Amino acid sequence: MQATQMQYDAVIAGAGPVGLFLSCELALAGCSVLVLERDADPDSPFKHLPFGIRGLSAPAIDALYRRGLLGELEVPRRLKNPFGGGSTQAGRAPRQAGHFAGIGFQAERIDASRWPWRLPGSPPASLIAEMAELEIVLARRAQALGVAIRRGYAVSGIAQDADGVDVQAGALQVRARWLVGCDGARSSVRKLCGFDFAGTDPEFTGYSARVELADPSLPGPGRQLTPRGMVFQSQPGYLAIQEFDGGAGHDGTPVTRERLQEVLRRVSGSDLTVTTLHAASTWTDRARQATRYRQGRVLLAGDAAHIHAPLGGQGLNLGIGDAMNLGWKLAATMKGTAAAGLLDTYEAERHPIGGKVLDWSRAQVVLMRPDPASRALRAIVEDLMDTADGATYMAGRVWGVETHYDLGDDHPLIGRSAPDFEFADGSRLGQHMHDGRAILLDFSGDATTQGQAAAYGLAFKHVKAQAREDFGLRALLIRPDGFIAAAWDL
Ligand SMILES: Cc1cc2nc3c(=O)[nH]c(=O)nc-3n(C[C@H](O)[C@H](O)[C@H](O)COP(=O)(O)OP(=O)(O)OC[C@H]3O[C@@H](n4cnc5c(N)ncnc54)[C@H](O)[C@@H]3O)c2cc1C
Repeated sequence: MQATQMQYDAVIAGAGPVGLFLSCELALAGCSVLVLERDADPDSPFKHLPFGIRGLSAPAIDALYRRGLLGELEVPRRLKNPFGGGSTQAGRAPRQAGHFAGIGFQAERIDASRWPWRLPGSPPASLIAEMAELEIVLARRAQALGVAIRRGYAVSGIAQDADGVDVQAGALQVRARWLVGCDGARSSVRKLCGFDFAGTDPEFTGYSARVELADPSLPGPGRQLTPRGMVFQSQPGYLAIQEFDGGAGHDGTPVTRERLQEVLRRVSGSDLTVTTLHAASTWTDRARQATRYRQGRVLLAGDAAHIHAPLGGQGLNLGIGDAMNLGWKLAATMKGTAAAGLLDTYEAERHPIGGKVLDWSRAQVVLMRPDPASRALRAIVEDLMDTADGATYMAGRVWGVETHYDLGDDHPLIGRSAPDFEFADGSRLGQHMHDGRAILLDFSGDATTQGQAAAYGLAFKHVKAQAREDFGLRALLIRPDGFIAAAWDL
């Protein structure tokens, strides 16, 4: 490939939610960005409800809220969230707040007082979104910020040198200072650059399908464990099937009506007939993670960096978290304002979080196996999840409210997502974060605070405020991604 003149600060491969979110973060910081997307048409039935349903949890919700994007999503307002993280009303039936391996945990059991920093009135810790809408909202914001998005261009060649990266996408050749692969589970960027992708092989094939059945009473509503796996009919004709076949069914061949009927008969044990197949896709519980997230001027984020079963809805949240973490660091590196080694903290902080999510999905696979020992273990976990400790632990993990970077232990808030403080003028912290800048949140006006904060090498804006609840803090230094770099008590 022939090196050309530098055209962009960054090229992002993939206009999925992670690539689009990252492009907004970079453009917000004043970087020039080109997004190259393989598919000419972004629309797909699998991005629309019900297939395109995505459970968002605290890290992604907070990221969208802090950039003023949450309010632009209409689906979360319209759709009743079956796993709502809000308060419950006395006298109501137990409400499922989420699940682990298909085992629900109840909202009434959760002791939210264990997360005192999630202040009343903060955005919900969990809500339902739709892939199609999320991508539309993010693409609109990206374009408003000046990001160029070119669809129908699959990245197919990469050559990097000390100053930049040449990227080939069909007939298009561009040069940028950095390339970020946000091109999904089968990432070409990851493969072309030879990133090691380590992990575990699948135990099952998952099928998502929309069908019509000759006898609508079969296989029955809800989730059924069977000797070969699991069948879940969320609403009439919408099926999720898991067959413990070592992932053999996920072979890239189209799922025909005949094949789906066979799988459904095998797994459900019912002699049912699929009269029409409207749409179907397959997936597995293969769990792999790039051992490094950066090679020179090429970085990975989202599914390109890690894949796992979509059990319990974690992948998108993990990817948006990557983008929120990487955006400001890469922008500061491009602008020459980053502290030494800042960009390397992307991998140092995000790799362990990704590893935990992979293990979370592996643990669920164990509880879904159809063998007697796993079913026995499942019954015990079910009992534990029905306790306050169990439900609170599950909610803390599933909703991501326990997400925490190891940034030192001088103060319990360091490394955590900042509380959404409510200020005397009625505004909340998140509303002050739309510009993507770090904040020195100063509750006391103490003259020494600015000097102390300057030692952290972050370009911040100084916000003096009184908060309704300030936890006895004198000041907080909040990174552009909303995580707390430093905290001082009164
Ligand atoms: C059935 C199912 C249910 C799920 N439910 C949830 C859930 O409830 N909650 C949750 O958090 N996650 C969920 N996930 C996971 C979530 O959808 C993914 O983690 C998320 O879409 C990853 O976003 P991404 O932008 O990294 O990748 P993608 O969404 O895969 O986007 C990658 C983009 O890159 C493009 N691309 C590919 N190759 C190239 C190339 N060579 N050049 C340029 N572009 C390229 C693709 O066309 C695509 O647009 C679910 C996944 C599945 C399959």
